[in-house]
Amino acid sequence: MKIAVSGCLLGEKVRFDGVHKHDRFVTDELGCYASFVPFCPEAIAFGIPRPSVKLVNRDDNIAVVSNKDGSDLTQKLLEKSYEEVHRIADEKLGGIIFKSRSPSCGLGSTVAYLENGFAGSKTDGVFASVCREKFPLLPMEEEGRLQDAWLRENFIMQLFAYDAIEKLKENKPTMKILVDFHIRNKFLLQAKDEKLYRVLGNIVGNHENLTFGTLFANYEQNFKVAIAQKSSIKRNRNVLEHMSGFFKNELSGVEKKALHEQIEEYAKKIVPIIVPLSTIKLYAKKHKIAYLLGQTFLEPYPKELALRSSLLSSK
Ligand code: SF4
Repeated sequence: MKIAVSGCLLGEKVRFDGVHKHDRFVTDELGCYASFVPFCPEAIAFGIPRPSVKLVNRDDNIAVVSNKDGSDLTQKLLEKSYEEVHRIADEKLGGIIFKSRSPSCGLGSTVAYLENGFAGSKTDGVFASVCREKFPLLPMEEEGRLQDAWLRENFIMQLFAYDAIEKLKENKPTMKILVDFHIRNKFLLQAKDEKLYRVLGNIVGNHENLTFGTLFANYEQNFKVAIAQKSSIKRNRNVLEHMSGFFKNELSGVEKKALHEQIEEYAKKIVPIIVPLSTIKLYAKKHKIAYLLGQTFLEPYPKELALRSSLLSSK
């Protein structure tokens, strides 16, 4: 999968002062599964090094202003941002990771100053705003928020689910293959958004006899919206209980009780989700329950990323 990333997070010395903001999680961990497409709209617009800039709210219009001489640089940065967005759009991206708080790259974390110099509300940087407009369904996150284990887990799950539907599309699926995809993603989708899971089920039911092309486009759109939702302990717990129901004739009373206790301990934030999930996986293997073993929820991304081993990865 290809992920566009703010160049400074990849260790490129493109910041205004000629340094980088290397993010080790991105390069060393995510880098094992993705290739990166770097971008830096400010370096293209103003060179390296350059005077720093800030966002200023002028009568509800956001301007890019030089910290050196107060000149208005909005047009130039906007032009270069559109050029960069067109360049990265050619790359079949599976996601974007931005540098937080930057006047160009911040995703909702950039301060827009008031004319009197006080800090105002937070907003998107110029380039991030252009990306949101151009790629409304693409997984996007900023490096600051990725320090939060729950947001990180959600984002990585979204990246891999997005990649899965893109690959499905590339392989020109049949209706049967799409139905199988939907079945395998049942618990992942339920953990994200039960209502959208039902909407997707109705789409594959095709009660309106749509052509497959129309149906798939509708499925893809709703799937991408669903995987962008954040999971919750409550929804995860429901999914775990539902999965454990598949063993009701296979497990002894003691085994059932132990699994139920693990799910309760997860809900109370005593153990991370990996604990009940590992038990479910073990029983699914032992009792050869293919339906469960095929569920993407059991392993939505490479387990080496170990994002479900932390109590903080659930909220
Ligand atoms: S935050 Fe964005 S604009 Fe600033 S140096 Fe990094 S990539 Fe370039």
